[in-house]
Amino acid sequence: MKPFTFGMKTMRITQNYNGTASHKSHWYNSRDYADYPIDCAGKDGNREPYYATVDMQVLTIKGKGNSMTNTIWLVTTEKVQTPSGVMKVFMALTHWNDNDPYVSKLKVGNIIKSGEPICEEGTDGATANHLHVIYGNADRSCGSSLIQNSNGKWVSSGYCMKPEEVMYVDREFTTVVDTCGLTFQDKPKEEINTSFLGEKGWLGFGDESDSVGKICQFMHDTFPKYGEWLGLDNEKILGNYYGNIIKSYITEFQKRTGLETDGNVGPITLAKLKEFGFKE
Ligand SMILES: [Zn+2]
Repeated sequence: MKPFTFGMKTMRITQNYNGTASHKSHWYNSRDYADYPIDCAGKDGNREPYYATVDMQVLTIKGKGNSMTNTIWLVTTEKVQTPSGVMKVFMALTHWNDNDPYVSKLKVGNIIKSGEPICEEGTDGATANHLHVIYGNADRSCGSSLIQNSNGKWVSSGYCMKPEEVMYVDREFTTVVDTCGLTFQDKPKEEINTSFLGEKGWLGFGDESDSVGKICQFMHDTFPKYGEWLGLDNEKILGNYYGNIIKSYITEFQKRTGLETDGNVGPITLAKLKEFGFKE
């Protein structure tokens, strides 16, 4: 499974989603919709393209030739790996110019292959060259339309997420100049093993599989004291079902190794288990 990464060769974020310049109305006092935009400028003075980093399909193109600010919506053609799990991701890019050399060749429904440009920075509805970009979980709602929030600001109607929750940065592709205070994870060295972690990319309560059985056996053999500490029977952990006992053991393991304690086994927890000798 491919990781979803940022699509410009230079990352220079000039305003993040908490920005108080033009982004304030996207979040301030908004009771309902916030779409977490970032303004991306590439090299200063240039117009850099934004590339598809996985195959993406064009959902909507709006604003070209009229007063609305130019925006293109896209969605990944397949589920991708993100810092928040496995999902289809949508993305909307705003401010490219009417004569954009890449968008002018695009139609709704087209697939842009990984590595191909989508559009370049522009000034349609903006004073300086940049792209205003939002991202979200298309499995929940891709929202290729706009909705007015309680500030009267038009924002994406989809399930938007903070950029650092949706994408990684591939440092072989992107030179990071300014993240504007946001912290991005590097593109993972290993892709998620979906045959082990299953279609959703992680194992958790209610899951039942041979993989769960292997993890239960490993925790039983490697950390038998956990049962004593947690007041649980170490023999009852065995089996292929992800129940409360294995969840408690994994939570304890995460706590002791400094990981986020959600009690699930995703790529990060799996990698940590391997450090202690676990084999898939
Ligand atoms: Zn913006």
